[in-house]
Amino acid sequence: MRTLGISASDMDMIFISHLHLDHVGGMTEQKEQTFSLSQGPVSLPRIPVYSPVGISASRWNPGPEPQVITDPTVLKKGIASIGVIPRYLFLIGHTLEHSLAIHVAGKGIVLIIGCGHQTIERIIERTRALFDDPIYAIIGGLHYPVNGGRVMIGPVNIQRLVGSDRPPWNSIQESDVKRGIAAIKKVSPKMVALSAHDSSDWCIDQFKQAFGSAYVEIKVGKKIRI
Ligand SMILES: [Zn+2]
Ligand SMILES: [Zn+2]
Repeated sequence: MRTLGISASDMDMIFISHLHLDHVGGMTEQKEQTFSLSQGPVSLPRIPVYSPVGISASRWNPGPEPQVITDPTVLKKGIASIGVIPRYLFLIGHTLEHSLAIHVAGKGIVLIIGCGHQTIERIIERTRALFDDPIYAIIGGLHYPVNGGRVMIGPVNIQRLVGSDRPPWNSIQESDVKRGIAAIKKVSPKMVALSAHDSSDWCIDQFKQAFGSAYVEIKVGKKIRI
């Protein structure tokens, strides 16, 4: 944030998609159901924190006021949670995750997704049930560590072991990625941007080929204009 010139005091809300370590600040935070922006002091104002499960601010950034939301909820004009969609993950267990829907006038719904454990098929289904407007953009993570991954221990792809509801001998595979792409194509979004954090380079290539000029590369700090 310092590198990008973003001040903690500029934030007016925090949206926590789910309580996995890579989304709350680390292993200790996941275990203790807290969240940290850094492993050092960060001064945060009394802003709302929306989380699908009970969570509190860690000692590094006290101040914000967490609220548990599980149902679809309008958080601010034009900004809503689509509500929790639960999934039982192999080894990790029951995971509650929600995604953000932002309404952009004249365009439609921009979906911002954390890890996407819910599966994109169910996220799209929920979004279409909630809103009349078309899905304009799908931005964020989907759990597709297929043909590679970001957490390898030797030949073992850790993300493939833990992030889906299926055991390792029948885990996420190419056909799941293809089914996800097909589900996205059905709603013809004008923009698709897949985070690399849980998806392999192979998967990102599949998305690039599938969505062509609608595909946008995302990186930390990159500004995306809708
Ligand atoms: Zn994640
Ligand atoms: Zn996760």
